[in-house]
Amino acid sequence: MANNLEREVNSRRTFAIISHPDAGKTTLTEKLLLFGGAIRDAGTVKGKKTGKYATSDWMEIEKQRGISVTSSVMQFQYEDFRINILDTPGHQDFSEDTYRTLMAVDSAVMIIDSAKGIEEQTLKLFKVCRMRGIPIFTFINKLDRQGRQPLELLAEIEEVLDIETYPMNWPIGMGKEFYGIYDRHYNRIEQFRTDDESRFLPLDDNGEVIGEHPIKQTGLYDQALEEVLLLDEAGNEFSVEKLNEGAMTPVFFGSALTTFGVQTFLETYLEFAPPPQPRKSSNGEIDPASQGFSGFVFKIQANMNPAHRDRIAFVRICSGEFERGMSVTLARTEKQFKLSQSTQFLADDRSTVNKAVSGDIIGLYDTGTYQIGDSIAEGKKIIKYEKLPQFTPELFVRVTAKNVMKQKSFHKGIHQLVQEGAVQLFKTYRMEDYILGAVGQLQFEVFVHRMKNEYNSDVIIEPMGSKIARWIENDRIDESLSSQRSLLVKDRFDNPVFLFENEFALRWFTDKNPSIQLRDPMEID
Ligand code: GDP
Repeated sequence: MANNLEREVNSRRTFAIISHPDAGKTTLTEKLLLFGGAIRDAGTVKGKKTGKYATSDWMEIEKQRGISVTSSVMQFQYEDFRINILDTPGHQDFSEDTYRTLMAVDSAVMIIDSAKGIEEQTLKLFKVCRMRGIPIFTFINKLDRQGRQPLELLAEIEEVLDIETYPMNWPIGMGKEFYGIYDRHYNRIEQFRTDDESRFLPLDDNGEVIGEHPIKQTGLYDQALEEVLLLDEAGNEFSVEKLNEGAMTPVFFGSALTTFGVQTFLETYLEFAPPPQPRKSSNGEIDPASQGFSGFVFKIQANMNPAHRDRIAFVRICSGEFERGMSVTLARTEKQFKLSQSTQFLADDRSTVNKAVSGDIIGLYDTGTYQIGDSIAEGKKIIKYEKLPQFTPELFVRVTAKNVMKQKSFHKGIHQLVQEGAVQLFKTYRMEDYILGAVGQLQFEVFVHRMKNEYNSDVIIEPMGSKIARWIENDRIDESLSSQRSLLVKDRFDNPVFLFENEFALRWFTDKNPSIQLRDPMEID
């Protein structure tokens, strides 16, 4: 039994793809699912292109705007591995859900558009992965198009992200003259636009294609060989330890659209990506292969089925095996109850998962039981996993009820949604006006939509723009320091917070008030 569980857990690989919109996340996800046989046609994942809606497009807002608001989960089998891909919204209006999803994975895949390099959103998401110290694999996409020089891209990754790179393979040309990749790991060349096994050319001891081959006549082949030699001599040495700490990223080149380099990427990824790791808890480190189900809620999503007012709590399993109807204890309330209804997530509804163990994600129907960050454990056990980080909000709005007579549902809605972690709530000092903070504009739209639909409360939101939020370390705070450009507010636990208009206002304030210590909860630079 224990061995079985260990084998199951070790076959799990759970990751998220981090990228800037349009880098090719949807395309790559689709190709991965195709390899795993989880979907039959490309185009299933992003429904906006085919008119069908994807499994991940649950909410109405998603439908209206044709974007994926929330993170969903796709699971598929490849050889002996069971792979969970946790989707993160590709839209720039992303939210805290995106960040929290990264708390539930064991590794990340970063996609970079070869013509663009590191973009803003990639950087933000990378920082969260860095904070967790999880392995990050890099896929440089769109080699079928003219992009930037590969050496230049590597230098940018190293400089901007402060991480060592190790190219697992190297492109031979690009765009119209893309011949394929020189695979350092498998010691072969993989030719572009050659479908069958003949696409692989083995290399001799000198790293040269064996025998005569037309590819040798291209100057780009010589250039790639020279660059690989340079990498062998002057580049970083591959280190599994560094990879596991998130200090080195293996880099792969390819073209998701033409399915080139994707399988090689997947196989190498599976060779090096870690299975579920022990997680810290109030009971010490919990071994993922230990008996006794436990896990934590990393996101709560409402109204996945518009016909019902249900919510789904997404749970990352951290130990043991999940069974329908099992009895668990919620650590926060110490209440015991049965998990009678659950749901699992796949790109294809035809297949169902028979077993859910550490590394897998389950969705539990929620009628208001769960909060984000909650831990549950089998039987009477009380296990609390580490608190999920609170991400620094960047955008703020003032919020009021449209109908002053309906204050009750307004307050109830706000407090529940805030507790759920949908938005962050602040209050001004004197008037106790409500201010909401979020990391993305879309969070406010989802908030307004849910207030109306779930709490029957029409709200008015007034944009305040972006602000720099800083918590105050010193206990006593002088209210007279509050101004238009450095607004003093309280968070929902009554801790004082300054909302600065911009960097300049922040610097001016710190110069004037050197004794006040300001803190950014997400300081991960
Ligand atoms: P996402 O926003 O990151 O999910 O990006 P998508 O997967 O939707 O891709 C954005 C655009 O880039 C689409 O038009 C894709 O067809 C295109 N694309 C994705 N991968 C490649 C590639 O390897 N080569 C080329 N030329 N285009 C690609």
